[in-house]
Amino acid sequence: MGACAEPDTIDCRRCDAVCCRLSVTVMPDDAVPAYLLDTDEAGRTVMARNDEGWCAAIDPYHLRCTIYSQRPAICRQFSMGGDDCRTVRQDYRRQQHEASTFFPT
Ligand code: SF4
Repeated sequence: MGACAEPDTIDCRRCDAVCCRLSVTVMPDDAVPAYLLDTDEAGRTVMARNDEGWCAAIDPYHLRCTIYSQRPAICRQFSMGGDDCRTVRQDYRRQQHEASTFFPT
C-alpha cells in the first residue's frame, strides 16, 4: 500500500476526523451554540475553526465532536466511507506525505 492509499475499510474510530476540517455550513434550523459559529467570505454562517484547521467543536485530544447531539445537519448527512469521506481522507494523507517529504525526520 502506498503512502496515499486508502484502506478498504474506513472506521471513524481510526481516523483523524479529517471530515471535520471541511467547511461546515450551518443552517437556520441547526442548534449550534453561538460561540462556535463564524461567517465565511460569502456571508454564510459556518462552524468556526481552530488554529490547526479543525472545526472549533472538536475535542483536539480525542478527535471527537463535543456537540454530537447538536451537530449541524450537514454533519449528520456526511457518510462514513462515502465518496466525500474517501476524497478528504486521501487529500489529508497526501498533505501529510508531502509535509513529511519536505521536512524529513
Ligand atoms: S460539528 Fe462536530 S461533526 Fe460537525 S464538523 Fe464540527 S466537530 Fe465535526
